[in-house]
Amino acid sequence: MDTFVQAQEAPIRLGFFLGTFAVMALWEWLAPRRRLTVSKAMRWAHNIGLVVLNTVVLRLLFPAAAVGMSAFATEGGWGLLNHLDVPFWPALALAVVAMDFVIWLQHVLVHAVPQLWRLHRVHHADLDYDVTTGARFHPIEIILSMLIKFATIAVLGPPVVAVVIFEVLLNATAMFNHANVRLPVSLDRWLRWFVVTPDMHRVHHSVEDDEANSNFGFNLPWWDRLLGTYRDQPRGGHEGMTIGIRAYRKPGEVSWLPGLLALPFRGKISGYVINRRRWEGGIAE
Ligand SMILES: [Zn+2]
Ligand SMILES: [Zn+2]
Repeated sequence: MDTFVQAQEAPIRLGFFLGTFAVMALWEWLAPRRRLTVSKAMRWAHNIGLVVLNTVVLRLLFPAAAVGMSAFATEGGWGLLNHLDVPFWPALALAVVAMDFVIWLQHVLVHAVPQLWRLHRVHHADLDYDVTTGARFHPIEIILSMLIKFATIAVLGPPVVAVVIFEVLLNATAMFNHANVRLPVSLDRWLRWFVVTPDMHRVHHSVEDDEANSNFGFNLPWWDRLLGTYRDQPRGGHEGMTIGIRAYRKPGEVSWLPGLLALPFRGKISGYVINRRRWEGGIAE
């Protein structure tokens, strides 16, 4: 099964990506949750342009991708799960959950370290919040992310199938929870025990620093609840809240592709100190 999955990795991922994208794009087009502040055609052209650029960069730098790395680790008997000879199904479940936790930690890290926040600003500077926001990352953050993934795979030794399932799942849930859609409140409340919902992750895209430093999950919602970074709703409500970063609001800087690529290199290192960020209403707890 591993060889088949490894050989078919690209079409499997592309198929799930296009399928989920189409469903979410149609949903938010038919019933948008918030009004967009800039034109959808313009946002999409630049956000999708960045996604295409990232895909090319990744394929050029790491043609074998994470799946290749996990096949390599399996062959060499590397990693905890290989070393301990954990049976396939428990290894699969453990690997998916552990990789999700690493992604959560990485997300906290890129908020906490000022130089990494510069890169991650590209994801947050989007003035609106829709399905394309979910894949909008600076190429250097994408490369860093891949290197962290390689290291995780080498230490963990997950089955190849687990890596593919994890990547497909993360991709699909990121598009789902960045979508500009509305779920019934009761469904949202129930669903957020199992997966990060759009209302849960939207809080993380607020201009308010204390809200942006909450809900770091992209896929499984448990880490924020367990580790104290969970926030139920935005103070201003989902329609009233402001999305983005307060200091960067010009479309040339935050919506157009050249501006997005240059964004990490703009501005001075400010008084940003871990845990000392402020929001409008006072000092965050
Ligand atoms: Zn973030
Ligand atoms: Zn996000």
